Amino acid sequence: MIIDLRSDTVTKPTPGMLDAMFSAVVGDDVLGEDPTITALENKLATMFGKEAGLFCPSGTMTNQIAVKVHTQPGEEIIMHKLSHVYYYEGGGIMMNSGASVCLLEGDRGRITAQDVLDHINADDIHRPPTVMVEVENTMNKGGGAVYDNDNLAEISQICHTHGLKFHLDGARIFNALTVTGQKTEDCGKLFDSISICLSKGLGAPVGSVLIGKRDFITKARRVRKVFGGGMRQAGYLAAAGIYALDNHVERLKEDHLKAQQLSNVLETLPWVEKVYECHTNIVLFCVKAPYTAISVVKKLEEAGLYGIDFDKKTVRLVTHLDVTDDMLIEAINILKKF
Ligand SMILES: *Cc1c(COP(=O)(O)O)cnc(C)c1O
Repeated sequence: MIIDLRSDTVTKPTPGMLDAMFSAVVGDDVLGEDPTITALENKLATMFGKEAGLFCPSGTMTNQIAVKVHTQPGEEIIMHKLSHVYYYEGGGIMMNSGASVCLLEGDRGRITAQDVLDHINADDIHRPPTVMVEVENTMNKGGGAVYDNDNLAEISQICHTHGLKFHLDGARIFNALTVTGQKTEDCGKLFDSISICLSKGLGAPVGSVLIGKRDFITKARRVRKVFGGGMRQAGYLAAAGIYALDNHVERLKEDHLKAQQLSNVLETLPWVEKVYECHTNIVLFCVKAPYTAISVVKKLEEAGLYGIDFDKKTVRLVTHLDVTDDMLIEAINILKKF
């Protein structure tokens, strides 16, 4: 048995999802004629109280489009130094938008309202104008850490007061909402734009949706075409997204429970130095010397448990839709026998 906990992106479409995909009504979306894509865009926009949405091939694209629309070359974005949009998107902020970044520290990848306030550049010709703030919820590099809603509300207020755009990388926003219980409409109110991944915990094969005001999405649609992300009969993929929203949101708590169980076991193991408090479906732990993250990942892999080394000492395991109860039991056995 192989238990693949490298990422929640490794899931395969379920039979129900495949049925939904096969029966999708499609058209040429670049011409605005794919009813399934339009339905998905409207569904997510409505859920979060936004005016419009844009279906894209990846979360990298939705994030990069948001940066492109919200900034002009030379302007600055405040974010955590480990945020996906900066750390994992190949320098796209600079390459696509020519924007500057102000990189903050912060507990498990989360920034605070005070820190944002302290880093807004004054109107001074020496400094790049601050125009945007970006947060990630849940925070991947922080081990699926969830933001405190009050802190987000404060940052949102600061952005409003200072005329800054506020973007949420919500690749795993439904994991966060599962924990905080915040309603999607209340979450939507805090941000100018939100990127939501369908291919992470929601279990769709491809796709992310960017949502925001209508004029923002109109500009975003133009940028998507320039970035090469205009797709034709991609309603087959959007159908998987709609199915995921209808069937795979409620069950995210099962992934969180499984991650918590793994975390509890790891706490008891002598070769584990530290386990980060488990918030959602991501488990992060540090290994004791002489082990390294790479050596542990390799040894676990030989036993059939796949994870990834996050840095020299840290291993990441992610639970998801395709992890059965039997797989969890076996994963725990493998960890205990290590
Ligand atoms: C996965 C992910 C993305 C987008 O990744 P793609 O692989 O481009 O879809 C963006 N932000 C976070 C936090 C992610 O985990």
